[in-house]
Amino acid sequence: WQTLSDRINNVAPSATLAVDAKAKAMKAAGLDVIGFGAGEPNFPTPDYVVDAAAAACRDPKNYKYTPTPGLPELREAIAAKTLRDSGYEVTPEQVVVTNGGKQAVYSTFQVLLNDGDEVIIPTPYWTSYPEAVKLAGGKPVLVFAGGERGFEPDLAALEAARTPHTKAIIVNSPNNPTGAVWSPDTIRAIAQWAIDHHIWIISDEIYEHLNYDDAKTTYIGAAVPECRDQLIVLNGVAKTYAMPGWRVGWLIAPLPVAKAAAKLQGHMTSNVANVSQRAAIAAVSGSLEVVHAMREAFDVRRRAIVAALNDIDGVTCPTPTGAFYAFADVTGLLNRPLGENGTVSSSSSELSAALLDEAHVAAVPGEAFGAPGYLRFSYALADDQLAEGMRRFKQWASR
Ligand code: PLP
Repeated sequence: WQTLSDRINNVAPSATLAVDAKAKAMKAAGLDVIGFGAGEPNFPTPDYVVDAAAAACRDPKNYKYTPTPGLPELREAIAAKTLRDSGYEVTPEQVVVTNGGKQAVYSTFQVLLNDGDEVIIPTPYWTSYPEAVKLAGGKPVLVFAGGERGFEPDLAALEAARTPHTKAIIVNSPNNPTGAVWSPDTIRAIAQWAIDHHIWIISDEIYEHLNYDDAKTTYIGAAVPECRDQLIVLNGVAKTYAMPGWRVGWLIAPLPVAKAAAKLQGHMTSNVANVSQRAAIAAVSGSLEVVHAMREAFDVRRRAIVAALNDIDGVTCPTPTGAFYAFADVTGLLNRPLGENGTVSSSSSELSAALLDEAHVAAVPGEAFGAPGYLRFSYALADDQLAEGMRRFKQWASR
């Protein structure tokens, strides 16, 4: 439509939100849909966090705007939490509290990129990265790594993609959509390569506490301290503390970048909702016990879903060791009749639509993550739902 800007016309809608919205609409219409679409923990926000928010609601000091980069107590708590979890020191002034991790991603690219600057995005990628880069005038450069190498970036491929315009690289481990936790060697190699070529590192650590088996999140700023002057860390409470709707995230950056992000926020959103920030203080300064309990529950589901997916003829799913996603290769289901109607899908996108329409199972197609031929299943749903969803998928795919 001619009235809209080229900038917004060039942006793809969020496919993950679209699948989730369609599944929710079908549910609202009375259909029994099993949703593997959304990256939303099904647990309630912990009581002590809700209590802190409820108390904050009754305190008139929280009816005001907060400072743009966040409540000083929250920025301090985030700095303390970063030292506790990631093992390195940052000052509260380096922290900018944002409306979810999503705004931290958006603001980072707005303040870093000039028109034509390139950002290397290891692929499969989280669906919002390329769009946030484009919205800032930048050019996403996608570098794919498949299931056969555990979805782990290959340094030679990154180097082959580097040009004089390369400004930044994204690191996202544990990863959405693959659930991969990149090895310490890979993380260190990326840091050294970025240092050598003066490339910004944007490390999205939002799934930091969701590790399984022997996997452990390697924090790039702790592993290679020399990269900290060119490192921006993104994080938030959504996944770790089951708080997606509270909309609290943050970025941690060298001071000039943090100040620039706060300047931008001053014109965009002023600040994150005061009550949500009070809740986030309780979350990040509380113990990790509740987080570990959620991780145990996710781990049981992870094993169940990987076994169930690999039990379907035509589906292959490597075992993920992080986050709450299983990323399954479904190329074996393409171009053959499936379900009662004998529906033939020629792409994972068509397959996901047919699976939702016919079996009432929602999963996000790999196209949303730059990886056609895959489906992403979020296993952040109840055990019985997971079992029923997998039963339906298998039955539909076996016809
Ligand atoms: N980064 C990654 C990798 C994500 O998967 C998400 C959410 O799906 C976010 C950032 C943003 O989360 P939020 O904006 O809910 O804090």
